Amino acid sequence: MHPLLAACSIFLLAACDRFDRAPKTPFDGVQALAYIEAQLAFGPRVPGTPGHVRTGDWITAQMRERADTVIEQRWTHTTTDGVALPMRNILARYNPDAPQRVLYVAHWDTRPRADSDRNLGNQQLPIPGANDGGSGVALLIALGDQLKALPPTVGVDLLFVDGEDYGDFNDPELRDVLIGARHFAANLPSPGYRPMFGVVWDMIGDANLELLQEGYSLQAAPEVVARVWDTAAQLGYGKYFVKQPGTAITDDHLPLINAGLRVIDVIDICYAAPQRGCPPNAPAAGTNYHHTMQDTIDKVSAASLKIVGDVALKLIRDL
Ligand SMILES: [Zn+2]
Repeated sequence: MHPLLAACSIFLLAACDRFDRAPKTPFDGVQALAYIEAQLAFGPRVPGTPGHVRTGDWITAQMRERADTVIEQRWTHTTTDGVALPMRNILARYNPDAPQRVLYVAHWDTRPRADSDRNLGNQQLPIPGANDGGSGVALLIALGDQLKALPPTVGVDLLFVDGEDYGDFNDPELRDVLIGARHFAANLPSPGYRPMFGVVWDMIGDANLELLQEGYSLQAAPEVVARVWDTAAQLGYGKYFVKQPGTAITDDHLPLINAGLRVIDVIDICYAAPQRGCPPNAPAAGTNYHHTMQDTIDKVSAASLKIVGDVALKLIRDL
């Protein structure tokens, strides 16, 4: 028996019961929120802008302080409008030679147009991207803090992909979205690269967090969905990771699934928007912060980041 448990059984039954049931992972949601604020200070992270360059440099520098190896993939993407965009994926690796690996993915770019904003005057403006872009990056950097403090026993790859949100999702060929994930899928870090499982973390900072099981994930890698939602349940987070099928969402997991990887998407697409498929406890009708100028720091929370961070970290520690 662990000495602490022995002490518990003798002295502090009530307090220890609470201790035993509390999540034991030390993921720091307040720190993760600060990593969102740091990104917002760079302004919109739109490919081809100075804020994009500065943010990419910052992420690489942050991860060089935390990971064993950091690889940048750089290339130029020419859009359907003929614009040449400088692109950068950032791959931070722990135990890079370990065959047993976990892949976590977040997009670090932000959308150039708030095309869902109800105010037509806002629709040509770039979104702030506190949740959409900012939260996934913050999650991965804060995970990096934990993996540096206590290195994982397995290999871990934290992948920051570019160009997820640049163009038109209605384009059947999806030419100007999911750009970085497609580039990574076509340029894997090693020929036989097959992580045990992978997770795309997107829009996970929503202060009104409710994560349904995304549709393509359920089709392509149901065992990964089960592992993630079961892990959340073990931590007492079943209220936030709801074991119900959600809508199917075009996101960075699709190119990775098409490359044969077992990758799912953890996404709170109902970002305060009570619409079909959205949870009943979302705020008042008519609000939707997704792809609007309202995707700001007050719409995300350290508590939500902590919930998702605890789950993401436990998935690694349990291996
Ligand atoms: Zn988006």
